[in-house]
Amino acid sequence: MSCWAITEPTHGSDNLMAGTPFFRDPCAFQEVRAVKKRGKWVLNGQKSAWVSNGPIASDAALFVNIDPKMGFAGGGIALVELNQPGVSRGKPLNKMGQRELPQGEIFFDDAVCPDEHMIIDPESYEAITELTLGHANATMGAYFTGVAQAAYDMAIQYSRDRVQGGKPLCQHQMVQRKLFDMFIGIETARAFSRSAMVFNMNTTPPLVQYSIASKVYCTEVAFKVTSEAIQLFGGHGLTKDAPIEKLFRDARAGMIEDGSNDSLSLAAGEMLLREIRQP
Ligand SMILES: Cc1cc2nc3c(=O)[nH]c(=O)nc-3n(C[C@H](O)[C@H](O)[C@H](O)COP(=O)(O)OP(=O)(O)OC[C@H]3O[C@@H](n4cnc5c(N)ncnc54)[C@H](O)[C@@H]3O)c2cc1C
Repeated sequence: MSCWAITEPTHGSDNLMAGTPFFRDPCAFQEVRAVKKRGKWVLNGQKSAWVSNGPIASDAALFVNIDPKMGFAGGGIALVELNQPGVSRGKPLNKMGQRELPQGEIFFDDAVCPDEHMIIDPESYEAITELTLGHANATMGAYFTGVAQAAYDMAIQYSRDRVQGGKPLCQHQMVQRKLFDMFIGIETARAFSRSAMVFNMNTTPPLVQYSIASKVYCTEVAFKVTSEAIQLFGGHGLTKDAPIEKLFRDARAGMIEDGSNDSLSLAAGEMLLREIRQP
């Protein structure tokens, strides 16, 4: 069981601004510091309570600072065993959505990893951070298309079963219109998430703005569709008995997970400019 440990108490979105001038500004850098001593990396600092699988993972891909003069770009990625002296963890976070995916703090106090486990150094850190985001965000687009589809399926079923005004909800024109709008959102999300994924799997280096666009678009569709589905369920949709309530909370978390949609959009805007500036 592994985890991707990047977010820190004082740096959330900051870690994901690869490609922007801020990323190379020495005014800010990762809190977890890696220093090489006698052929090993010695690790000190803290990751935030947002590391998925943080409380249970045996290993981490740990994003660290190696050269603070380069700002965030002076980072590295180390493969670190978490069940070792010098590593401790906080309690799982009690949060609103995706409750089955536990998050928690990880503390490093003179923990170590072998030299060869520092798989990325400052020379390639910024590019690899972008690549990681490109992969993760494309996957998020696909996941959240699935969340929206699940909510739609539940809404269709409920609108067949629930009778109001003398007929099933699905026979009321306004309900049909709502279902159709949900359908449009899901099908555009499906088409876009698939094409962004296929495009970036066949493009070297990937154009990360497509993956970010997929993540932002599909999580927003999922949020809208799950919200509309709750509306169709009426009061029942608000109860813990109806799983639609869970999908709504999960979709809400998706707009912050793997980068807040606003910050990702800022980074993607910068990538677009980079492309425009090219002759
Ligand atoms: C379900 C879930 C799972 C997660 N899993 C992981 C994980 O496995 N590993 C991990 O390391 N992290 C994980 N995270 C953390 C996640 O990546 C961060 O929450 C996210 O990057 C945002 O950081 P933050 O919460 O510190 O918000 P902040 O960065 O403090 O942002 C707060 C608000 O300010 C805005 N903002 C930030 N910077 C700027 C700017 N420069 N200009 C304008 N507006 C800005 C943001 O868009 C946001 O709206 C997870 C989060 C969630 C919700």
